Amino acid sequence: MNLLIKNGRVVDPSQGLDAIADVLISDGKIAKIDGHIEGSNVEVFDAKGLVVAPGFIDAHTHLREPGYEGKEDIESGTKAAAAGGITTVFCMANTDPVIDSSILVSGLKERIARKAAVNVEVIGAVTKGLKGEELAEMGDMAEAGAIAFSDDGRWIANSRIFRSALEYASAFDKIIISHAEDETLAAGGYMNEGLTSTKLGIPGIPAAAEDIAVARDIILAELTGARLHVAHVSTKGAVELIRQAKARGVKVTAEATVHHMTLTDSAVVGYNTAAKVSPPLRTAEHVEAVRRGVKDGTIDIIVTDHAPHSFKDKDVEFRYAPNGAVGLETSIAVALTDLYHTGILTLEEMIDRMSAAPSRLFSLDRGNLKIGSRADVTILDLNKEWTIEGRKFYSKSKLTPFEGKRRRGKAAGAIVNGKIVMKDGIVL
Ligand SMILES: [Zn+2]
Repeated sequence: MNLLIKNGRVVDPSQGLDAIADVLISDGKIAKIDGHIEGSNVEVFDAKGLVVAPGFIDAHTHLREPGYEGKEDIESGTKAAAAGGITTVFCMANTDPVIDSSILVSGLKERIARKAAVNVEVIGAVTKGLKGEELAEMGDMAEAGAIAFSDDGRWIANSRIFRSALEYASAFDKIIISHAEDETLAAGGYMNEGLTSTKLGIPGIPAAAEDIAVARDIILAELTGARLHVAHVSTKGAVELIRQAKARGVKVTAEATVHHMTLTDSAVVGYNTAAKVSPPLRTAEHVEAVRRGVKDGTIDIIVTDHAPHSFKDKDVEFRYAPNGAVGLETSIAVALTDLYHTGILTLEEMIDRMSAAPSRLFSLDRGNLKIGSRADVTILDLNKEWTIEGRKFYSKSKLTPFEGKRRRGKAAGAIVNGKIVMKDGIVL
């Protein structure tokens, strides 16, 4: 069955396209884009008043399967992605068992093929068991289809091992994604160190913990010539270090989460464990620096770092609550409300950082609407007014730092490989 998206505003930064047009999808590929396409024997998606964009890609998601299916699984996590308008997610390796061998990569991919509602790319671990001691078989995992490598959740503190990891991954042109935080300096902290942590009496994590780790990672990327990607940049210092490194030709790229671009550490006031994330939410000065970094391209992509936990896990004293918040079902709405409607990012920039740029960075065959491309499409309603309510999420985790917030903008549709997987917020 062919699919015809009618009367939408088609925005594809990869080909400088921004026009009202019809999009014909045939055999899972973009077949034609034209002012008016007459379709016979086609399913029609009426996109009048909506934006038709290349499918959004989230390069940082925790699906929790295998091992932590009480928090999330492939089915619930990818339905959450579809509901939020995201057509590809990358899943992190910090599951149980840790995804650190080719057999585990293959097994996970097989589960994904059976259960996922959207495309899923698998990220393998850099070190065995995420212990930071011994390199995992990244070559074999790459052969089994791992897209990149990360010990996310942990920083690889041993510089000799991190250097070897970069050298090893670069032999097959793969990217190492670093959760850059000096654990010795961060130890004992539960939120950003500053005025708010002092007022709340919660021990803090200084921004320097991230700056130090990013500096070390960049120095080793420069030494090895390997490709480094810095996960969830949250500090002004890290943005500046990455900016300088890029200027001198280091192969470093970076991401920022939607929450680090839109929330400050004041979200923690009231000991709100839904806002306890790693790295912690920072002050307005850092948020501003991260936004500027995304705007000028220092930070290449925007991610969710969707990290679901059950209510029971989070319903404890602040210091004992695990880090992480869900984001797949709110990222587009929050980005449209707080970044696009406020004029911080243009629509083209937002679509680039959330679709075209992650595709380019990880050499995927998507992130654009060129003729012949894979038909992954995200339909956006730029002006829909709605209120975020966690209890309505497809994710197993209903806790969000954006609970009760009024938003302007929402994903109105998601198409994966030419098939409608979500319409008006309902996953099909
Ligand atoms: Zn992380």
